[in-house]
Amino acid sequence: MDFKSLKKILSEAKSFSVFGHINPDGDSIGALLSTRIIAMSLGAKDIKLYSRDGVPDNFMFLPGAELIEKKAADGAPPADVAILVDCGGPKRIGDELLPLLKSSPFVVVIDHHVTNGGFGNLNIIDSNAASTCEILAKFIEAENIGMPLELAQCLYTGIMYDTGRFLHSNTTPEVFRICADLVARGANPHEIAVNVFNRRRFERLKLLGYSLVNMKTAEDNAVSWSVADRKTYEELGAEDEDSDGIVETLGAYKGCEAHISFSESKDGRARVSMRSSGRIDVGAICAKFGGGGHKFAAGIRMDGPLSLVEQKVVAEVCAAARALKNTEGRDD
Ligand code: 5GP
Ligand code: MN
Repeated sequence: MDFKSLKKILSEAKSFSVFGHINPDGDSIGALLSTRIIAMSLGAKDIKLYSRDGVPDNFMFLPGAELIEKKAADGAPPADVAILVDCGGPKRIGDELLPLLKSSPFVVVIDHHVTNGGFGNLNIIDSNAASTCEILAKFIEAENIGMPLELAQCLYTGIMYDTGRFLHSNTTPEVFRICADLVARGANPHEIAVNVFNRRRFERLKLLGYSLVNMKTAEDNAVSWSVADRKTYEELGAEDEDSDGIVETLGAYKGCEAHISFSESKDGRARVSMRSSGRIDVGAICAKFGGGGHKFAAGIRMDGPLSLVEQKVVAEVCAAARALKNTEGRDD
């Protein structure tokens, strides 16, 4: 990875727009805030942070979270450099922000998605990294940039989040080495975990309960999924972002190979979140529907109706589960 060029750009350009992805997670928010702190320590003064869907409540405790904007101010001048963090493609920042991205003459991409083909003028992409925050931590280490407490907190949050609290198969020795260092510099694992995962609104817990009670399964439990349409959200008083994390809980089911959460967003589009227990490549399945992500954690945004999306996507995942079973059969 060309860390030298990244340092040069962060040190020399005058103004920056930094973009995270829609439906932001801990890695997107952590990477946005970390990029600002790093750029400032290299002398940058004019840095704007954008997240189309704002900052979910549970990440508002992070230092600088209140600086993240949903859209550009009217007549905002283009920045010298646009930086996209944790975005597998330019559309991941949200269509509303694309004109702002296009107004910048130079684009930097910092990402860890395997589906990222490198669409920037400078691409810092490592699909072996568990998170974008891990790449940023390595950059800081390689280029001897300072690590204030605020930066350690943001980076730890992103790394911890994208490893599913150090549960996913991307939890490498490197992840623990970097996190040990971040904790030594003051990041507090207990405080961060409580802020990110506990302190939930009751409406969110009700949506999780609804999803578990109404969980569907197929292929001898190899595939499990849940569906929440607009009506359900409204009845429960839940928000779009409350669907985060549901899919992970479905994966607790014994025998489950792939699990999916379907939800109808406020904008009427279907949000599909998919996870694999390690044998089905759900990234490839999502890519077939125009989505993407990683091999074992991926997603799709699709136009509805939700029931049709459910039918088509579940059929594809069931076919993959059957193929897996047939392969196993031949091994016997
Ligand atoms: P989640 O299900 O948590 O929203 O997303 C899981 C992973 O898949 C994340 O790495 C996310 O960036 C990626 N992902 C989710 N939805 C999409 C999508 O519509 N397109 C692409 N390219 N990636 C997605
Ligand atoms: Mn990520």
